Amino acid sequence: MDYEDFFRAELNALPDSGNYREFAELERHRGAFPRATCHNGDRDVTIWCSNDYLGMGQHPKVLSAMHEALDRTGAGAGGTRNISGTTHDHVLLEAELADLHNKEAALLFTSGYVSNWAALGTLAARIPDCVVLSDALNHASMIEGIRHSRAKCVIWNHNDLVDLESKLAALPADQPKLIAFESVYSMDGDIAPIAAICDLADRYGAMTYLDEVHAVGLYGPRGGGIAEARGLMDRLTVIEGTLGKAFGVVGGYIAASAELCDFVRSFASGFIFTTALPPSVAAGAAASIRHLKHSNTERQDHKARVADVRARLDAIGLPHIDNPSHIIPVMVGDPVKCKFISDTLLREHGIYIQPINYPTVPKGTERLRITPSPVHSAQDVEHLVAALEHLWTQCELARMPIAAQ
Ligand code: PMP
Repeated sequence: MDYEDFFRAELNALPDSGNYREFAELERHRGAFPRATCHNGDRDVTIWCSNDYLGMGQHPKVLSAMHEALDRTGAGAGGTRNISGTTHDHVLLEAELADLHNKEAALLFTSGYVSNWAALGTLAARIPDCVVLSDALNHASMIEGIRHSRAKCVIWNHNDLVDLESKLAALPADQPKLIAFESVYSMDGDIAPIAAICDLADRYGAMTYLDEVHAVGLYGPRGGGIAEARGLMDRLTVIEGTLGKAFGVVGGYIAASAELCDFVRSFASGFIFTTALPPSVAAGAAASIRHLKHSNTERQDHKARVADVRARLDAIGLPHIDNPSHIIPVMVGDPVKCKFISDTLLREHGIYIQPINYPTVPKGTERLRITPSPVHSAQDVEHLVAALEHLWTQCELARMPIAAQ
């Protein structure tokens, strides 16, 4: 086989459909978010697609905690958690996370992806005869974890309680079960019926595993996520989250009972056999979490900015999914036009929004996923909406509101 030919042919098949991923190369400047310099085209841009939802990646408390820890401890952790890589900063962060979710314990991983892959995979693999009931729109990290576990997996229709119940009822009553789902779904921005899923879990003797990656820091009086906002944290077996989105740093975690965390700590290869996060990262994340536990300002401003963008899109009839979260998917429905709009926004308007095409979303639902933050100004919103309106006309795209899913 000519390997290089094979790689080239596979890649060559992509650009026609607008699916070839090109990265915008950004140069960030301290304190300037959502502004950055983009090296493709060498111009200053406003970022409208970041998952640093609250701008905490530039928060002075986070930066000074990281500087302090870097000066105090040095660059890296120096080992896996088991072999010299557990520092006081890691332990303090885990305590902060356990407290955030009102759980006995928490366990850190190097990313949210790894936490799902390793924790869900380990539970599914190690609990004898465990069946995982996985929401159809679960993130790739959960799917890969379940696949890797080789446990039986039953996929239930997205957010469909009737389907979930019928699938639970079809399983033997005494078979161990784990229901895996998300709170805020990242591409549609819709939210799971968590209480009703917990009711079903209780009725059918299942554990629950909730990915709150797109909710931690953002929802609940202390930033504990949708489960905190709805008073449901105690009903969930495992809450999983990231330190890389609203908390603005990097890393992932689970929060659960002391026994469950100890179990994952002891058996998950994705936890055991990899270098621990740098202590400076742990210190920065802890500062971010601590700040957002006590400050509602960022959450309130965030909510206001999201409402503002939605209202302006409605006013000009740009179709977006009317969901109850902070994620605004503006629906283009064509991969080539979606990429064209994204490219033109960057090149001509200094606006950076990554196109979201298949396979991340189903064909025909290509979109621009807009994530407003409290650090976007009213003028930024004005500029964004005017540019989108212009491109909508240029691409002859339909204008109409579309209903929530
Ligand atoms: N879960 C969901 C639902 C996600 O969207 C993502 C990342 N986009 C992850 C997990 C992985 O988190 P991280 O970026 O921290 O690896």
